[in-house]
Amino acid sequence: MASPFAVYSEAIPSAPFPFPPVQSLDHRIPSAPSPRMNPAELRQQIANVSGTVVIKVGTRVLTHPDGTLNHERIDQLAEEIQTISQNGRRVVLVSSGAVGAGISLLGLKSRPTDLAKLQAVAAVGQVHLIQSYDRTFARYGRRAAQVLLTVEDVDDRVRYLNVRNTIASILEFGAVPIINENDTVSVDELKTTFGDNDRLAAMVTNLIRAPLLVVLSDIEGLYDGDPSRKESKLVHTIEKIDETVLGYVRDKKTGLSKGGMASKLEAARMVTTAGESMIIASGRQPNILTQVFAGELVGTLFVGQGKGITPYKRWLGFSAQVRGRVQLDAGARRAILEQGRSLLAAGIVNVQGEFQKGDVVALCDSEGHVIARGLSNYSSADIERIKGIKSDKIAQVLGRRPYEEVIHRDNLAIVRK
Ligand code: GLU
Repeated sequence: MASPFAVYSEAIPSAPFPFPPVQSLDHRIPSAPSPRMNPAELRQQIANVSGTVVIKVGTRVLTHPDGTLNHERIDQLAEEIQTISQNGRRVVLVSSGAVGAGISLLGLKSRPTDLAKLQAVAAVGQVHLIQSYDRTFARYGRRAAQVLLTVEDVDDRVRYLNVRNTIASILEFGAVPIINENDTVSVDELKTTFGDNDRLAAMVTNLIRAPLLVVLSDIEGLYDGDPSRKESKLVHTIEKIDETVLGYVRDKKTGLSKGGMASKLEAARMVTTAGESMIIASGRQPNILTQVFAGELVGTLFVGQGKGITPYKRWLGFSAQVRGRVQLDAGARRAILEQGRSLLAAGIVNVQGEFQKGDVVALCDSEGHVIARGLSNYSSADIERIKGIKSDKIAQVLGRRPYEEVIHRDNLAIVRK
């Protein structure tokens, strides 16, 4: 059976530092649709998407109002996934619903606020969730494969590649990878959680280089105002996530699920910056996936930006955890975003956090927006001493100048264009 995506065997850099840019064996950089296309042409591109796509389904799609799992919907979803998995297209599912299912199975009246209890509820619910998928996919002669991830699994470069290889192998077996956060060990305070499954799905999309992420939600897409007001209109195509688009978002949190439109926009930003596309559509509408993959104008399409970035930069930009921040002046910001340059000490105005040489740091503009991430050639203590000075003066201050750049361009990924 052909590999669903080239299995990584890329070498893990053995030099202690800096990582050389890693050469991928997978040369399939999907050509992102051109923003100059009209909406119908853009949707035709979606209809032609092949390879592995990611579908994320939220708690409110999978559960009844009383919190019990909606088996009919799981059946429909499996049937649709079966229908769209043809002509070389394969599906990786990111599914929420563990906490929701656990609450009703344990007869609780509401979502626990105590962390250990919440994790216990997820442990109970996850079993039921995966059993339901497995039973349903078995009708099509396929097995469900449970993949539970933590932030640490995608932060560490070796584990990141392992996750990718495992998902590829599951697909080769013809099974359906069903991914959720490993809620029983993920803790917000320890920064071991993805935050929500929209972000997890975006990371998975970037990790496997899927050309499309479909987020199935309880809402039809992004509206240009409060969706409960009748003058608000569904926006079918977003070519760039700018201030106007961010202004559309009204985030309401409920007792049952995390996420909301703000985190969906954040997921869309991660996916489109890496060059891939994302669609938000209603998971409650029958045949929605069939419509999406027929190129129909349903939901909201976020158009991928540019040509697609390399696997190494996807890890650097979206999966690796940052250990500190450096703030840039306007000139350095321009050099990074517009001129494809490295970061020099002269352009740094401030450094936050404690990090070592070789750690991943966030590069922020004067307003505190993270625009890029990169591997630092200097520790935070060294940067504190050399910030704002010209590169040829570094040796005078530190007594050595191992690198001209604080972050070399090859070890830098743009995360906000
Ligand atoms: N991992 C959680 C669950 O399965 C869901 C998190 C989310 O939906 O964002 O219940």
